[in-house]
Amino acid sequence: MTEVVFRGGTILTIDPDHRVLAGDVATLNGALVHVGGTYTPQTRDYSIVDCTDCVVMPGLVQAHVHTCQTLARGRADDLELLDWLRQVIWPYEASLDPAAATAAGELACAELLLGGTTAILDMGTVHHTDQFFAAAQTSGIRATLGKAMMDLPDPQIPAGLRETTRASLDESAALIGRWHGRANGRLRYAYAPRFVLSCTEELLREVGVQAKARGVRIHTHASENTGEIDIVRARFGKDNITVLDELGLLGDHTCLAHCIHLNDAEKRTLASTGTHICHCPSSNLKLASGIAQIPELIAAGVSVALGADGAPCNNNLDGFLELRLAALLHKHRVGPRALPAPEAVRLATMGGAAALGLADQIGSLEVGKRGDVIAVDLTALHTVPSTSPFSAVTYAAQSCDVKHVAVDGELVVRDRALLTMDVGAVRSRAKTAARRLFP
Ligand SMILES: [Zn+2]
Repeated sequence: MTEVVFRGGTILTIDPDHRVLAGDVATLNGALVHVGGTYTPQTRDYSIVDCTDCVVMPGLVQAHVHTCQTLARGRADDLELLDWLRQVIWPYEASLDPAAATAAGELACAELLLGGTTAILDMGTVHHTDQFFAAAQTSGIRATLGKAMMDLPDPQIPAGLRETTRASLDESAALIGRWHGRANGRLRYAYAPRFVLSCTEELLREVGVQAKARGVRIHTHASENTGEIDIVRARFGKDNITVLDELGLLGDHTCLAHCIHLNDAEKRTLASTGTHICHCPSSNLKLASGIAQIPELIAAGVSVALGADGAPCNNNLDGFLELRLAALLHKHRVGPRALPAPEAVRLATMGGAAALGLADQIGSLEVGKRGDVIAVDLTALHTVPSTSPFSAVTYAAQSCDVKHVAVDGELVVRDRALLTMDVGAVRSRAKTAARRLFP
């Protein structure tokens, strides 16, 4: 029996009415059992965490990250997407070995949890997916993860990442068997064809069929870069989203990262199929990819989540930074009321939960949901005075203000200390592995 009480905070429920409450949030055996008012523990084995001067809210959900890329932080600055992939990221991913993969995964998960992100949709690389799952398991984060699929015989893809269609599908199926549903459902699989450019038509079509048959999700990149969509158009004679739709990949079980360069018909297709998209504002700016038309996509009925993408295109995995940037970025074009703080917070929590197919389990603080809870301390000078908690967590607070974090009702960060891993050892293994990969 594990009982955790987040005592005495201001509670952002992110429930359908966006209620803000005062008092306690409690979890028992992984589930939320109490939200608001005073809670009396029901067992002898309980932990009380002090949330005075804190906003208590659902953990941030990032629906597009690459934990595998973390050791390449700072190694691929000031490049556009296709050069970034071909010159640095693919060679880096090809050079990973199991120890480096573990170091990258642990570094990413530790950064994410300490910064208040409790759930991720993660695209691995072609190999070492067991290591990334194991790192997520050790850290305590909630992760939906899949191996990157890259079966197109493209000479620009390093030999170490090239795979046959059959091998790609077989390895994905084996990983589903080993990991999907593990750790009380905290770990799940998602098919992750990297993008249309790296995949054969046969593979994409088969992913669409297998994902539905096996009840797992699809996670891919789409329409991030104008060079990318030009190549898709030259290969298929159609726009990227239309290609994905005709190959059977769109639907409520699919999350597409980026979706920057879309025509109106593609926007309508995303809305009508219920496909989720993940907005990654820092990555889109840094790779000079462009700015997705998020307010218009939301108005058209598209489900939107937020994500940091990878350390080499960001260069952090900081959910609060993405939340703030998403709220700021669209105002210059659409006006100051674009993505107001409550709506931005909703994207960062419930939007992500929906993209992971977990809207009934996480993303808001409601009795019966899983206990993915964070407390954000508002005593640092950069948050004082704070009147609206939505404003505070969107525009003023930073990830370093995250004080306590629970995932599935287990405390993983308490008083800013990570309880599941030794941060010093994570840092030192990451530096050692990075030195080996980038001599
Ligand atoms: Zn990405």
